Amino acid sequence: MNIILLGAPGSGKGTQAKALMDAEGLTHVSSGDLFRANIRGKTPLGVAATDYMSRGALVPDDLTIAMIRERLAAPDVTTGVLFDGFPRTVAQAEALDRMLGEIGQSVAGAVLIDVAEDALVERLSGRRICRECQTPFHVLFKPFEACPEARCDGEHLYQRDDDKPETVRARLEVYRAQTEPVIDYYAAQGKLQRVAGEGPMTEITQRMCAAIAELSGA
Ligand code: AMP
Repeated sequence: MNIILLGAPGSGKGTQAKALMDAEGLTHVSSGDLFRANIRGKTPLGVAATDYMSRGALVPDDLTIAMIRERLAAPDVTTGVLFDGFPRTVAQAEALDRMLGEIGQSVAGAVLIDVAEDALVERLSGRRICRECQTPFHVLFKPFEACPEARCDGEHLYQRDDDKPETVRARLEVYRAQTEPVIDYYAAQGKLQRVAGEGPMTEITQRMCAAIAELSGA
């Protein structure tokens, strides 16, 4: 079963994906995390992606699709993937359908996490990430208390460059122009579920599980 998580930057896709992985037995594939790993590793892809990411723009489709194609060749994706941050354009959604088709799979559906724009800006600008375990925290809503993997001490929190206010605005613009059409792409196929993305995290996870059950026909 392959599920797409859709939602604006800051809607909680990454946080929910981590909670859903265990609940649904799916592999989490985050395009943003893959790009950031390439940047840390100073790979040619990382070098090419840096400028786009620091401006809040999308990395070109050909580079992004090639990166996901490579990820889909790994053995851990055969039981199903939770895609987080991909696809972000209709061309990527079409490419994903083709790539999954080549390995005899398909997209079961997409879950859109709905969050009001004011809340998105508040969430992104207060977000801090642990450099060691990549867990997201928030200066107001989720200050560091304990590392979920019990390996960090809260000393290595940083703000992503693209979470700074000017770049947040650019990312929301990009989302409206380029990623909202992806919502219509799945809605037109009857493969879209919408979930209210505000409220306690565990409740949102429950709503997401119910939406995934709908998509999988359970
Ligand atoms: P995220 O961590 O999902 O918010 O992604 C951070 C940044 O990585 C985005 O603002 C883009 O610059 C880039 N990125 C991530 N996923 C994609 C994608 N599917 N297509 C193009 N660029 C992407």
